[in-house]
Amino acid sequence: MKVRYDSYCGLNCGACPVGRANEMNDTEAIKKFAEEWGTTVEALRCTGCKTEITSGYCTNCEMRLSARDKNHEFCVECSEYPCKDITDFRNDKAPHHSIVFTNLQKIEENGLEEWLKVQKIRWSCSSCSTSFDWYSETCEKCGKKLYNAVDEEKDLLI
Ligand code: SF4
Ligand code: SF4
Ligand SMILES: [Zn+2]
Repeated sequence: MKVRYDSYCGLNCGACPVGRANEMNDTEAIKKFAEEWGTTVEALRCTGCKTEITSGYCTNCEMRLSARDKNHEFCVECSEYPCKDITDFRNDKAPHHSIVFTNLQKIEENGLEEWLKVQKIRWSCSSCSTSFDWYSETCEKCGKKLYNAVDEEKDLLI
């Protein structure tokens, strides 16, 4: 399935484990996530935040609904940005959320196309170019240690 990578809040759906499993039609991975998280395979069907097929987690995301309601492509266009919802999201415990302000700033400064290009490189193994997700620790193809969202969050907090 084709997955759209940009989202309203600045996350990259292309580095989301659920997005990647859907993109690669990896039914086993989706089944594993469903078991781990106590949900169904159907609830984990997703082709990206800005599409009509979104996972149970993201379908009712308040930022997604709010940005769609206000006709914004990105929260950074909003007069209320950064509102409490996106600030709380950015500051919560999930390491992959910490990058959203930076991502939105880059999209605003350099445009979406450039951001997508840079993201493709950022989320591919520097040795063999295999893509990886927010929480991958080593490359599934060559075994190289990866710089993931947990490492990135530590650097963002410096
Ligand atoms: S589950 Fe959410 S973050 Fe992951 S690809 Fe779908 S919309 Fe994007
Ligand atoms: S109010 Fe907040 S969540 Fe809604 S579009 Fe504006 S910045 Fe995004
Ligand atoms: Zn590799």
